[in-house]
Amino acid sequence: MDNRPISALTFNATDLAEKSLAGEDLSREEAFAILEWPDEDILTLMQAAFKVRQAAFGKKVRLNYLVNIQSGICQEDCGYCSQSSISDVPVEKYKLMTPDEVEAAAEKAVANKAARLCMVASMRGPSDKDVAGVAAAIRRVKERFPQLELCACLGLLKDGQADTLNEAGVDAYNHNLNTSERHYGEICTTHGFSDRLDTVRKVREAGISSCSGALFGMGETREDILDVAYRLRELGVDSIPVNFLIPFKGTPQGHREELTPVYCLKILALFRLVNPFSEIRIAGGRELHLRSLQPLGLYAANSIFVGDYLTTEGQAGSLDREMIRDMGFEIVGENAAEGSAVPLVDRVTLTSRQARLAK
Ligand code: SF4
Repeated sequence: MDNRPISALTFNATDLAEKSLAGEDLSREEAFAILEWPDEDILTLMQAAFKVRQAAFGKKVRLNYLVNIQSGICQEDCGYCSQSSISDVPVEKYKLMTPDEVEAAAEKAVANKAARLCMVASMRGPSDKDVAGVAAAIRRVKERFPQLELCACLGLLKDGQADTLNEAGVDAYNHNLNTSERHYGEICTTHGFSDRLDTVRKVREAGISSCSGALFGMGETREDILDVAYRLRELGVDSIPVNFLIPFKGTPQGHREELTPVYCLKILALFRLVNPFSEIRIAGGRELHLRSLQPLGLYAANSIFVGDYLTTEGQAGSLDREMIRDMGFEIVGENAAEGSAVPLVDRVTLTSRQARLAK
């Protein structure tokens, strides 16, 4: 007798992939079954995720390079964050980088074959002076490396600030939802889920590409995971970073040990199947939680960070590039002539998204 859970027996992975590619919403039951998928059948699930990933993004993998442009200075109390006001983690503290310093980070991004530089500042949200400083850095980097996409992550935005960044030439703005609305109060009390939604909407209204993702391993339920996957679909964000908690001792979430490599794969497959035409990026915690299964993650995701994370080191960029090539995948923009533009959204993605919106 087959002892697999009923939910996983009920659904066929190929059917889920076809439904996803047709732009149809997976039912909650189907999405729940993905998280409950039997470990021994994980390859069936990843094959379905790959079918969707391949249709939308081919064999391309986008590399993103992270720079912490302001570190260790934040008044918020996000329980997972080593840079929060309640964290005891010893992290470097410095104020907003100058355009020269951001330009130096951009040089490293280009040397690492990254298509995008993600400029992240630890703060609740920027003052207008902060936004002016980041805008100056954006102009500087765009002049020197027009092919490099720039993403800003400066926290909660006030009216008009997204427009200033847009005018400076920013390509994308990141602001993660992190978890479900229901669970949000468990991880942060100094701002709410609705504040986060408001910033994601401001970014979209300003015409900037929206990047918004989630963080798992913080005591959330499977329902919470589904909620945030569907919410991001509703918002229609272009890029979804999927983070796995790096438990810092000295933060309220520092005791968590909830994730396994195969469960992380199921989360990635869920995000791919629920958000077939969005970039899915394996973000923080990739090396720690996926471990030897990192290559399998790329069957669902089409994007990763290369280099270090905000306050922790990642594996060497050369190893990431080797992994991608060993799998027969291609790095976006790797062979682009210097100075030529890397498309912000792959043509095939755009076509798929337009088809979906036209329905
Ligand atoms: S707002 Fe950002 S930098 Fe500040 S505590 Fe939260 S996650 Fe950390």
